[in-house]
Amino acid sequence: MSEQPRSRRQTRAAILGQLLQSGGMFRPPLAKAVRLSEASLSRILFDLKAEGLIEEVRRPAPYFGGPTALVSLDDSVALGAIELTVQRLSVGVGSMSGELHYTERLGLPKAPTVESVGRVFREALALLRDWTRRRHVELAQIGICVPGLGRLSISGNAIIRCDIERLRALLGEMFANVPVAFANSVVGHAMFHRCRTEDYPFSGAHLFVFVGQGVGGTWMDEAIEADGLQPVELGHMVFGEGGPRCRCGHHGCVEAYTSLPALAGLLGIAEPELLQLGSDWVDAIPRSSRMRQELRQRLFRLGLAIGNTLNVRSCPAVAISGWPSLLPERERKPLADGIDSCLLGGLKSAELSLAFVPPSAGQDPNAALAFAASCLACRGGMPAEATEAA
Ligand SMILES: [Zn+2]
Repeated sequence: MSEQPRSRRQTRAAILGQLLQSGGMFRPPLAKAVRLSEASLSRILFDLKAEGLIEEVRRPAPYFGGPTALVSLDDSVALGAIELTVQRLSVGVGSMSGELHYTERLGLPKAPTVESVGRVFREALALLRDWTRRRHVELAQIGICVPGLGRLSISGNAIIRCDIERLRALLGEMFANVPVAFANSVVGHAMFHRCRTEDYPFSGAHLFVFVGQGVGGTWMDEAIEADGLQPVELGHMVFGEGGPRCRCGHHGCVEAYTSLPALAGLLGIAEPELLQLGSDWVDAIPRSSRMRQELRQRLFRLGLAIGNTLNVRSCPAVAISGWPSLLPERERKPLADGIDSCLLGGLKSAELSLAFVPPSAGQDPNAALAFAASCLACRGGMPAEATEAA
């Protein structure tokens, strides 16, 4: 975090971000983490509590004479989560701590079009609106995760046909006054792991790599800043001509070798079946020596893509989420070898920390819920369009 003076919004965002990442903190370490005096922190916490964004619960003191009131995010804040995957659209309502109170999953047609995806969205939003109306729940934020969403494809998506501007207009009609944010699914999964994975390995700057239905990454910073995160399209690095066709239209992208659908193809099962097996596929599906050899090559290629990304922008750490995390260490070693062989100076001299976190595909709309929570934290729990004095 910078040492420049912070606005009220930034200070509130820092506090809410810390609470989101930690799940709850006592006042003294919280004050230290956000670089505030306990008196200043106290004043802001008073406001946040009055606005229903945080709560303080009495807990046994961590040491004799220590603090007893644990500050955490108020679980009554309701967030809307919408997540699009290749197979379905999931909607849900959940809390800042990641608990889902309501989930609905709607199947997508086999060959989705802008119109059919739009219809499923409308249906999902109607369900969400009915559920919240019946319970008099007011959503504080809606977070929407879409695979393949990027700066260049804000209105036309190469992976799932959908018109974001049209969806935005629909949300404006059906959920007027609720702040809405869209993100690439990679950003949602990054936020999900950062906030929900126990013992997430990094708190400072790192590259988060997601190996799911697609392969992508995003640069993470010390502070939670969901809004500013841009997807890194490292999955569409092309390795030679004539490789397998990628969903982006090119041939030989690293994604075409290492995504979940590519893995399913190699293992000889359908992708939904593989998703259903979850973490169990590693033990459930026997891998012939030919398959193991092929997996090694593919992981090496993924390593090359990550290493090349780090050559463009260096970074002290990489977290990888996805199916490679489930393999025994020796089987996923080619991935590290791939990074090593193309990273300028190699893995060791770059002092790169590499960590594997579990896959999170198939848990929709949990990533969208984590994204919604981080959006609310990022704007300091203040209205999206509020102007402020620094
Ligand atoms: Zn591609």
